[in-house]
Formats: sequence, C-alpha cells, structure tokens
Amino acid sequence: MDTALVAAGQSLAGHRHEARYRGVIADLFRSGRSVSCIVCRRSPAIERPIGGLLLACAAHKPKASSVSAICLACWTAYDADLIEQAATRVLRTFVKGGRFVDPPPIDTS
Ligand SMILES: [Zn+2]
Repeated sequence: MDTALVAAGQSLAGHRHEARYRGVIADLFRSGRSVSCIVCRRSPAIERPIGGLLLACAAHKPKASSVSAICLACWTAYDADLIEQAATRVLRTFVKGGRFVDPPPIDTS
C-alpha cells in the first residue's frame, strides 16, 4: 500500500501515482458523497473546508485507491504526529497492523 498525505491544492504533478490519485479525488467530488475529517470526524463544509487529503492505493491492484479528508481546522491546528495517528487509524482499515514506513510528507509552505 502506497500512501501520500498532501495539503489541499498541493500539486500531484510528478507523483508516481498522480493519475490514480487524481482519479480517486475526482470521483469523490463527482459522487457528492459526504466525507468526514479523519481527525475530528466532522464533515468538511464551506465554513470548514478540506485542509489536506490522505491518499492511498494498493501497489499491485490498479483499482484499489482511496482518499480521506482532513478538515482545514485540524490540518492547521494539529501537529504532524496527531494527523499521522489519524491517518494510521484509517490505513489500518485497509491493512491490519499497518503503519507508515516513512513520515508522510507535509506541505510546510
Ligand atoms: Zn477535522
């Protein structure tokens, strides 16, 4: 399982799973399906926009991709460790006992 933690609006250009991640993000917004923040579990809304996305895809299953949202309030209020804990909780719904091998990249701009 490959994962990426990116700030909302951060370019995926050049990422090795760019096409798959763009597809899963587009599907999410096209579907109109409600999402909830993986940290506070509230739904992002106009007053609580998405601050970051946790993207995951199975290395050998082209269709197995997922996207999870982190609201802007959590993205800006909490440090990387707490966001990583929430991301790990999500990851473990796909991979039992899974953990991040490398710290997920966080946009520091
Ligand atoms: Zn949140």
